[in-house]
Amino acid sequence: MDHATSGSGAGQSGASAVPDAPLTAPPAPHIAQALNRPKSRVRVRTGTRTAQQEVYQRVVDHARDAFLIVDDTGVIVFCNPAATRLFSMAAEDLLGRNFGFSFGPDGEPTPIELLSGVLSPLFVEMVATPLTWEGRAASLVSLTDITARRARETEMMIHTTAMETAANGIFITDRGGLIKWVNKAFEDLTGYARALLIGMSADQLKSGRESDAVFADMNARLSAGQNWKGRIVCRRKNGDVYTAEQTSTPIPDPTGRFSHFVSVQEDISERLRAQDQLIQLSEYDGLTGLPNRHQFMERLKSAIERANRADSAVAVMVMDLDNFKAINNTLGHKAGDTLIRAISARIAKLMRTTDTLARIGGDDFGFIFENVSDMAGASRTMRRILDCLRQPVIVEGRHLKVAASLGIAAYPKDDIDPLSLLRQAELAMYQAKAQGGQSFKYFDKDMDADIRRRVQLESDLRRAIENGELWLAFQPQLDLRRRRIVGAEALIRWNHPTRGLVSPGEFIPCAEASGLILPIGDWIIEEICRRSVAFAEKGLRDVQLGFNVSGVQFRQRDLYSQVTSSLNRTGLGVEALDLEITETVAMERTKQVTENVEKITAAGISISMDDFGTGYSSLSNLQAFPVKRLKVDASFVRGIGQNRDDEKIVEAVVRLGQSLGLRVVAEGVETTAQKEFLHERGCDEIQGYLLAKPMPPEQFVTFVSDFQDS
Ligand code: C2E
Ligand code: MG
Ligand code: MG
Repeated sequence: MDHATSGSGAGQSGASAVPDAPLTAPPAPHIAQALNRPKSRVRVRTGTRTAQQEVYQRVVDHARDAFLIVDDTGVIVFCNPAATRLFSMAAEDLLGRNFGFSFGPDGEPTPIELLSGVLSPLFVEMVATPLTWEGRAASLVSLTDITARRARETEMMIHTTAMETAANGIFITDRGGLIKWVNKAFEDLTGYARALLIGMSADQLKSGRESDAVFADMNARLSAGQNWKGRIVCRRKNGDVYTAEQTSTPIPDPTGRFSHFVSVQEDISERLRAQDQLIQLSEYDGLTGLPNRHQFMERLKSAIERANRADSAVAVMVMDLDNFKAINNTLGHKAGDTLIRAISARIAKLMRTTDTLARIGGDDFGFIFENVSDMAGASRTMRRILDCLRQPVIVEGRHLKVAASLGIAAYPKDDIDPLSLLRQAELAMYQAKAQGGQSFKYFDKDMDADIRRRVQLESDLRRAIENGELWLAFQPQLDLRRRRIVGAEALIRWNHPTRGLVSPGEFIPCAEASGLILPIGDWIIEEICRRSVAFAEKGLRDVQLGFNVSGVQFRQRDLYSQVTSSLNRTGLGVEALDLEITETVAMERTKQVTENVEKITAAGISISMDDFGTGYSSLSNLQAFPVKRLKVDASFVRGIGQNRDDEKIVEAVVRLGQSLGLRVVAEGVETTAQKEFLHERGCDEIQGYLLAKPMPPEQFVTFVSDFQDS
């Protein structure tokens, strides 16, 4: 460019003159500069023309390119019509102007190609040839307007750069499917270097996971001149696959045939993976991989819609593991998780492909059975489930026996709303559980009433404490060797104003669930101390009073302080009381339980392990736990003389107690045979209907007095 502006004509640029004619289209700056220089006098010679000259003249006149003849001083001495058009100047204005360039040594044709100023809208390609004009050295300059071409080139460069640096992979194929061009992102995406990709068939990138129909559709659209957009799975150089969202566009050649195809690929593998994960998380349970509650409800809705159309029935079933919380608390959550996984895998094997098994809560499973023709089929399935749970599950080397309670409701018999159906199945399940578990129940309308009854019970129970409707019954405990009443268990009783005597089996669970067990428990501690004082005043000596303590009390009350301050207030000795706790509470091993139990036993107050044998405590747990007595559960005592296994358990508990220096009390002793058996095996005490039923305090005083005297 410099070289262009420093031509010989520059010497005259100092002359002061204004252009003769305004330039309508601004030419390149230096050309404009040159053209703005003052004209010098020029003679244009016109001689007689030969035929050949006539031809030349016409060529020059009609040429698309501009022709100038510039003399050795840089002055334009000739121009053709194309030149006047190029510079938008009349011939007489061009002639005599200084062009601004002179070209090469004399006689030597020095073709130079110049692109005028980059910023100019006028780009020319210039070729100069030396010639002689009217006896003087001159140059024939031909100028081709390449402004439009340059603009196209610039545009193309922008497009190419954009494609090259695009984040998505871009590749261009020809009709034969051979790759002609790729961008950087496509190299990265496929793992192939550009040199390998170019010339490669695009088919080589296929993963084989797409059906032929996908490519047939692609080809059909592209050959019809339409875009194709879709999802395909491709294979990288290293064999991995990726899913791409691809858009392919056919490009016509000048004849209108589609000669090339531009395809843009976005790798959506990561996005799909994230989506899958999200779906998995939102619809499936992480522990078992089963559908979760949300997904269960979705499926139930669809199942009901299908059943509605097909006029068929759907059975909804809910299963809850009996005593799962005890296992979780005793063996830890990891063991609990293992158990849940094992059980879900076992049950899953019983399902047909059209059935749904879901985990809808901690230890709750949901089932959907479609197309059930009669409920007999559903109950067979429930029985199979209960049966398959009979086999113990091995968790951390332990053989755990799990049982379950199942409830079932049916569409459209019981309800048509999915949520109501689930609730009804749950109600039925609770009912099965309330009746001892390891069974199943169908929902029936009375169960709703049952729930209402429970709500009523709770509000009645609140009132019971204030109204003094609660009282303690006492059931004596006999020392088998000394043949003396050495203690009694206090058992709560509720005189309901309209229902009469309500059993603790009915209201204690309700009190525990509602938290009412706390004020009730507080009252029991006060009452038991009051009674103990009163019994002593009536002459009853050395009768220890045991009372039941719920796990809720351990967790939410400072039992140690409560009991000791009650003892202090009433002036009773520590030997007056015995706290009965269940294995489940003992094995919880939480800070509150452990601390309370340790402080209570350290103070010399006795603790008994109630219902021993029904929980999951192991020998090692027992050794670490400072209890004074073991109460053999009545269910084993009941088996004495009938079931050898139960007898073995009773014998084992007695031996265990002896070896650990604990007293063993047998509960629920109803027959003399049971009493004899226990006595022979070395059991310390018995409690049960054989001796006496739980009785009101006044009656208890008389009973003990009469018994000790006899
Ligand atoms: P538990 O502590 O195992 O009490 C023994 C239960 O067995 C009592 O039932 C008692 O009446 C019953 N029983 C005693 N001897 C025999 C017998 O020879 N045959 C039969 N079939 N049963 C016998 P109850 O009074 O209905 O209490 C049931 C459960 O309610 C108790 O079981 C205990 O877990 C709970 N409970 C009772 N009173 C209280 C209390 O004051 N506080 C708390 N937290 N729970 C209590
Ligand atoms: Mg008890
Ligand atoms: Mg008991």
